[in-house]
Amino acid sequence: MLIQLIDNCPQQELENIMAQLKTHGFKGNLVETLSTRYIISNGKKEADIRLFGNLPGVKDIHIVEDDNKLVSRKWRVEDTIIDFGDGIQISRKDLTIVMGPCAIEDEQQVDTTLEFLKENNIRFMRGGIFKPRSSPYSFRGLGIEGLKFFSQKCKAAGIKVVTEVMQVSQIEEMYDYIDVFQVGTRNAQNFNLLDELGKTNKPVLLKRGMSSTIQEFLASAEYIFSNGNEKIILCERGIRTFEKAYRNTMDINAIPYLHDKSHLPVFSDPSHAVGIRDYVEPIALSSVMAGADGVLIEIHQCPQKAVSDGAQTLDFFQARRTIQRLRETVALRNKIMVG
Ligand code: PEP
Ligand code: MN
Repeated sequence: MLIQLIDNCPQQELENIMAQLKTHGFKGNLVETLSTRYIISNGKKEADIRLFGNLPGVKDIHIVEDDNKLVSRKWRVEDTIIDFGDGIQISRKDLTIVMGPCAIEDEQQVDTTLEFLKENNIRFMRGGIFKPRSSPYSFRGLGIEGLKFFSQKCKAAGIKVVTEVMQVSQIEEMYDYIDVFQVGTRNAQNFNLLDELGKTNKPVLLKRGMSSTIQEFLASAEYIFSNGNEKIILCERGIRTFEKAYRNTMDINAIPYLHDKSHLPVFSDPSHAVGIRDYVEPIALSSVMAGADGVLIEIHQCPQKAVSDGAQTLDFFQARRTIQRLRETVALRNKIMVG
């Protein structure tokens, strides 16, 4: 059961609702976001909403059987839109394209990439400054000093910064320099990190854990929402299967499935899903046809020299063609699919 409280619900009314829930064998969890307050109840018994629907302080009440209630479409039918100001929104109407290198390497790389993004009217740049690497001897990112110039240059270009946060202590130091906190696949079930990101007001791009089921993926999003942050983007980035021919297996099924089950925007990351440059574009285009609201693609002015993930990274020539085809594909999708 999910109870939406009226704006400025008096404390006494809130306590009364909680007491009534208890009397009828339900436990109520209060969730407070920037826009409103909810009570989530996971009582075992089937609820009769008439018991609570008329209590003072209750705005609306929904039966949501899903474990992950706040992110479920069963109560919020309309899609979540994330507004960044400056005319930039993540919504189902447009395709959001996020491009940039796997890792931020130096200032010149950021300048060159921003030039390319501006020319192509792309409003989000990605780039890791704290890099989770499978080997401790690989390049692990420039750290906060790198983020400072990355952020300052993006701001000057009117482009939003998307970068990965790896641990709780980084949230505060990164906060002023980023527009979207990315949670990587390896941290998708780092519940302490999710809790703390839930207490911020910046959008979180949550990658699916490489071995996470959809249920677990949505539970990770629920952690963020239940701590107060409603601005979450779900990102399918491929899962581990028995197949070894490519880096991961893009779970294309996840895109329409997540849209159906959740009101949150759904992105696709074809670069990490397939891991091979030549296949990034077809996987990106098919994600769009499957309904993705955004794509995250690794690009570099010279992928052969990229410090990480060069094999899956597009050069600018390829990226330009992919952008054009993405835009044609989304126009086609919107034309042939109504609703
Ligand atoms: C990334 O986007 O740079 C990244 C490390 O992705 P993932 O967490 O999906 O592997
Ligand atoms: Mn990468």
